[in-house]
Amino acid sequence: MIAQNFEYLVPTSLGDAVNLLQKHAGRAKVVAGGHSLIPMMKLRLAAPEFLIDIGRIPELAYIKEDGGKIRIGALTTHYAIETSNVVQRSLTALADAAGLIGDIQVRNKGTIGGSLAHADPAADYPASILASDAVIITLGAQGERQIPASKFFVDMMTTALEQNEIVREIQIPVRSGRIGSAYVKMAQKASGFAICGVTAIVELDSAGLIANAAIGVTVVASYVYRAGKTEAALKGQKPAADVIRAACEKASDGVIALEDIHASADYRLDLARVFARRAVRAAIERIG
Ligand SMILES: Cc1cc2nc3c(=O)[nH]c(=O)nc-3n(C[C@H](O)[C@H](O)[C@H](O)COP(=O)(O)OP(=O)(O)OC[C@H]3O[C@@H](n4cnc5c(N)ncnc54)[C@H](O)[C@@H]3O)c2cc1C
Repeated sequence: MIAQNFEYLVPTSLGDAVNLLQKHAGRAKVVAGGHSLIPMMKLRLAAPEFLIDIGRIPELAYIKEDGGKIRIGALTTHYAIETSNVVQRSLTALADAAGLIGDIQVRNKGTIGGSLAHADPAADYPASILASDAVIITLGAQGERQIPASKFFVDMMTTALEQNEIVREIQIPVRSGRIGSAYVKMAQKASGFAICGVTAIVELDSAGLIANAAIGVTVVASYVYRAGKTEAALKGQKPAADVIRAACEKASDGVIALEDIHASADYRLDLARVFARRAVRAAIERIG
């Protein structure tokens, strides 16, 4: 199917992009990699009159470590994140997630800003973004906002972004100490999209006990959540198999699960428990 007619605009700076969004308020959409928006336009699920291509704004694509944070520009591709030494060293789970997105073509075009703004309940990044307490930096006509990940994901395909705001950067705190992280995913065989994805970030103290655990679960509910009961059950405990198993049994407590042609709600709730266990174990194995 062919998309409805639209006018194609190509700003070369972030300021110009924000001005264009403001000028065509409610009738325009930004396009980054186009790997989610263009299919939606072809299916006529989205029909913007103006398409503002931010793909040629050079100041939006970077990965830096700076002031105790990893700073990732919105236009950074999944491939750049998957292969970044900074990301692999400081938040391996995010590199895992990037490397499991679609195929190499998708990873070379799709961007982290586009993925977060799109907020597909089947997206991989949100588990790591939420578990790492990342902050999403946005720019709009009213200026800059810093939105904690815990407030950014509002519901299925819905974020805290205002209509005329652009995601500019993702900031992830870098934690020091004995920390490991991992993202594991159960993928649909045909599309590669997740049916369940879990990030675990685990910190051990000097005695080898679990000082902190952060667990983000994506694709199980309509939007990403933290498995708070599992996190609490792991804290202060030995990282032993029986402890991890018992704690991860709580990974879907109280969750209203999605149900679709790929998985029943009960199956997804069970996947959350199993994949939480695998993610916690993998994160601990990575602690040097
Ligand atoms: C075949 C295929 C397989 C895929 N498999 C997976 C998968 O396994 N896991 C996964 O997580 N994803 C998957 N995806 C989605 C892919 O990751 C997309 O790249 C991503 O979801 C959107 O990024 P984009 O840069 O392409 O955004 P676009 O398609 O350009 O935009 C998506 C939405 O975000 C908005 N937007 C884009 N950038 C910004 C910004 N900086 N600020 C504000 N709004 C913005 C747009 O207006 C639009 O509404 C797949 C896609 C395809 C086509």
